[in-house]
Amino acid sequence: MKKQNTFLRLAVPVLLCGIIVVGCRLSGSRSGFTREERRILFEQDSILYVTVVTDPSDSLILRTPCADLSDKMLKSKDFRLFSEKLKATVQAPWEDGVGIAAPQVGISRRVICVQRFDKEGEPFEVYPNIRIDSLFGAVTLSTEGCLSVPDLRGYVPRREGAVISYTDPETLTRVSETVRDFTAVIFQHECDHLDGILYTDRADSVFFSERSAAERMYYDSLGYYVKPSVLIR
Ligand SMILES: [Zn+2]
Repeated sequence: MKKQNTFLRLAVPVLLCGIIVVGCRLSGSRSGFTREERRILFEQDSILYVTVVTDPSDSLILRTPCADLSDKMLKSKDFRLFSEKLKATVQAPWEDGVGIAAPQVGISRRVICVQRFDKEGEPFEVYPNIRIDSLFGAVTLSTEGCLSVPDLRGYVPRREGAVISYTDPETLTRVSETVRDFTAVIFQHECDHLDGILYTDRADSVFFSERSAAERMYYDSLGYYVKPSVLIR
């Protein structure tokens, strides 16, 4: 009787620890991305669904402030896949953007992809853990649209330049850079997304764009904006 009691005293905590460890494995992953984030990345093709304000559950994601990525996440294959899919998504003919932020594909992490019009070849580049450290220069009105705000455009006051910093995923060191003009506008727009802010919150005025509405209607008729089951809540 005593022996059995000793066995139970040892076996129950061991069993509980085992259940907790298995539970952690199911909710997380070796890359540090959550199971849901990995499903969003892996259960879709190279081009990801883009969240829109007209959908209530998408809108919740778009209004949620984003979390930083850990060093483990930045070094993972999952992050490289994430970067490639962000680049492919913003360049898809039915999206045709100049920038995209992670919450626009349903992932609340501080990552953006920006087309660098100030660099040769105008490449799309990905910036993890990005922050705008300071803004400078005159305020001018820029005409903006957003992949997550269908059919609209707006006039938005933006500063002429920005000092940005982000983590280099190769060296894991912080990099600081100064950007100006249209590139600075894109960085300001995309970084706002990471804080749950949309350009319509800052716009002096917003107007209906017949051209973008017609384009969206055309691609919609071809089935390009169907929400995947992984994002249906
Ligand atoms: Zn946007």
